[in-house]
Amino acid sequence: MNRRDVLKELGVRPIINGAGTYTKLTSTLMRPEVVEAMASVAGRFVRIDELHDTIGHRIAALLDCEAAMVTSGAFGALTAGTAACLTGTNAAYIQRLPDTTGMKSEVIIQRSHRFPYDHAVRNCGVRLIEVDTRDDIDRAISDRTAMMLFLNKAEPDGKIAAAEFVEIGRSHRVPTFNDAAADVPPAENLFKYTRMGFDLVAFSGGKGVQGPQGAGLLLGREELIASARLNTAPHSDTIGRGLKVTKEELVGMLVAVELYLERDHQAEFRAWDTRIEAIGSRLRALQGVMVERFVPRIANAVPHLRVRWDERIISISPSDVVEQLREGDPSVELVPVPSQIGSLEIASWTLEPGDADIVAERLCDILKRGPAPRGGGRDD
Ligand SMILES: *Cc1c(COP(=O)(O)O)cnc(C)c1O
Repeated sequence: MNRRDVLKELGVRPIINGAGTYTKLTSTLMRPEVVEAMASVAGRFVRIDELHDTIGHRIAALLDCEAAMVTSGAFGALTAGTAACLTGTNAAYIQRLPDTTGMKSEVIIQRSHRFPYDHAVRNCGVRLIEVDTRDDIDRAISDRTAMMLFLNKAEPDGKIAAAEFVEIGRSHRVPTFNDAAADVPPAENLFKYTRMGFDLVAFSGGKGVQGPQGAGLLLGREELIASARLNTAPHSDTIGRGLKVTKEELVGMLVAVELYLERDHQAEFRAWDTRIEAIGSRLRALQGVMVERFVPRIANAVPHLRVRWDERIISISPSDVVEQLREGDPSVELVPVPSQIGSLEIASWTLEPGDADIVAERLCDILKRGPAPRGGGRDD
């Protein structure tokens, strides 16, 4: 029996993803075992709370933390975890959010840790109090302080590092929350921040762990995870009712975590490097082109290739290259580096077998040929 090719029927083109785990590019690909596990529950009714409890316990055991829940992405984890800090198990409070009347209503964050996803925290009706130093925190903490929020990848940008942040929270008895959404690999990070003492830690399910794109993980203290559960679906009158996780996502997330922990991470890293090297060696042969392998220190810490060219020799801008790659067949997505002339980046880990050759060939062609001929004026 021929399988339906729904994308083809719809006329939606699949892409080669050399950009990375971007939400707008559907982030990651699930392993076949994850897809099979999801399909295996699709035809069965279950009690969703029972499945949540059981899978939460399994994941907590696998990741050696007190408690865990599968959430609707790291974003959902941020909202559910914040709500938990505000309401505890108080039913009236749970129903009242995002109105925080009667509750603590402030969240402390280092100024350099502000990020677009802190909207997930602000959704709970809290005010973010920005601080720079430890003294600032000591002054800012009051009986209104509900939580302290840390953005893991911003650690080098702030004056207060993760361990000290935890210690400050502890000394004031304020729960600390670390958003480490994109910070796997290394796999140890799934354990590191709960062990360090953060009360809550969020990860994306659909990035490094290769679970369902809509899923995420909230790890942490038992009573906070229990309150987070009460603030989300299937409970109706809650801030998190829309942050629903399906039975397929629950099971898919568990299997993805199991597979991730069993993987040979070093072999996988070497395979990523091989791809990067394959592309790099082709591009290096072009006159005026420089390539450099790099691994970000935190967040998306996998081999990448930075491609730079001398625009006096090759007169095409990165955004033109990206556009030509996008419009070609197959369509390829790469990320231009806005701050640098003649520069773009290639991520290794979202490429599938065979993709590296295609990306190398297409890039070489475009860089040799230069700008596409244009009719009329440009509108960029
Ligand atoms: C990707 C990301 C999120 C959102 O994760 P989802 O799983 O897509 O909800 C939140 N915070 C950070 C730092 C991220 O990188």
